[in-house]
Amino acid sequence: MATSDQVHRMATFWSNVLEGDGQIFDSAADFKKAIAKYAIAHKFGYRMKRTNPNMAKAVCDLHSCDWYICASVIHDTGCFRVYKSNLQHFHLAGYSTQHKTKASKTVVADVILDKLCDCSKYRPMEIVRDISREYGVRLSYQQAWRCRELATSLLVGLQEDSYKTIPWLCRKIKESNPGSVAEYTFEQDGSFSKLFIAFSACLHGFTEGCRHLLVLDGTFIASKYKGTLLVASAYDVDDGMLPIAFGVVPSESIDNWEWYLTQLRHALQYEIGDELAFISDRHTGIIQGLHHVFPGCPHAHCLRHLKENFKKYLKGRYNQSFKAAMEAQLDKIAYLRTMHDYEKNMEVRHKMNRSAHEWVIQAHPENWVIALFKGNRYDKLNSNLAETYNAWIKDARELPICHLIDTIRLKTE
Ligand SMILES: [Zn+2]
Repeated sequence: MATSDQVHRMATFWSNVLEGDGQIFDSAADFKKAIAKYAIAHKFGYRMKRTNPNMAKAVCDLHSCDWYICASVIHDTGCFRVYKSNLQHFHLAGYSTQHKTKASKTVVADVILDKLCDCSKYRPMEIVRDISREYGVRLSYQQAWRCRELATSLLVGLQEDSYKTIPWLCRKIKESNPGSVAEYTFEQDGSFSKLFIAFSACLHGFTEGCRHLLVLDGTFIASKYKGTLLVASAYDVDDGMLPIAFGVVPSESIDNWEWYLTQLRHALQYEIGDELAFISDRHTGIIQGLHHVFPGCPHAHCLRHLKENFKKYLKGRYNQSFKAAMEAQLDKIAYLRTMHDYEKNMEVRHKMNRSAHEWVIQAHPENWVIALFKGNRYDKLNSNLAETYNAWIKDARELPICHLIDTIRLKTE
């Protein structure tokens, strides 16, 4: 438990926020916040005495102590200036064992905002613990819960503001990285709709130094302002991941994928007939979007996702060893390189089990069996590169959108 003589590291940063006569604050709220922080740092209680909207006064809550500070509004500005003060107490910090330093809700909300931004699961009990340890202020669970509510609403405000800076950010990206593509749309009511960004260095790297195969994937955004991150990445010469373009859309719908792919086509300056193939988890939005925007481009379906579907299909049907044999056979079929081998293996499969054979026919083998695939997929049979991308951006998906964009930009540079 915190005691008055313990050093509360974070609180010491606030020990000089009140300087005395002549000091100016942006508003009455800022003045009050500074008093609350100062009182936490110096471990004393105080009371606010506000005589009218243009004036605010705080006094030490030990009646016999002369500590006080008065500020009044500067005409027509809303700013407050300290015009009278005595910042000397006649007693020691934490003067009474009953004494509890008060912390205003707004001060605690300010303090926990950053942590909440990094971890949306910051719990009231952790807030009680951290505020006590770092600031020497004891909060009840209920108080911590209320502070968390306030901080959450401030964060949503920040995230809304974050969306408002998208036009500026897109302009800056295009100015500072010529050749980059940064497009966005807003709804009629002014709310954010869609975003697409491809940095010129990545586009250049793809056209000049990569195999012309793109892995597409959609992943949810964990921040308060839900949405989906759409990503196209490629294999570089060392088989590493090169991020090509990303987008933020409300959901993985056909329309949103089509919009994203249209921007991608423009960014790559793709012409029909150019060599380009795709790999994905065969989300309906991707299948339809590619069909409309990149007609004729071969689209490989990820074998790992396909096997998961096949496992679901087999569930509850056969015994374990038969299931394992069927799965292994599916794997084998995917890697076959000639039509002759494919037909031979399909015959075997037909004999093993007719419905499992039928499952392959229905699962568009032309999109995953090497022998039947029309384009060049460089022996890449799954979309694992998408997971590499997700690990690459780590927790950035929880950040407000502008921070997310900036994190990706910094990592790409
Ligand atoms: Zn005092």
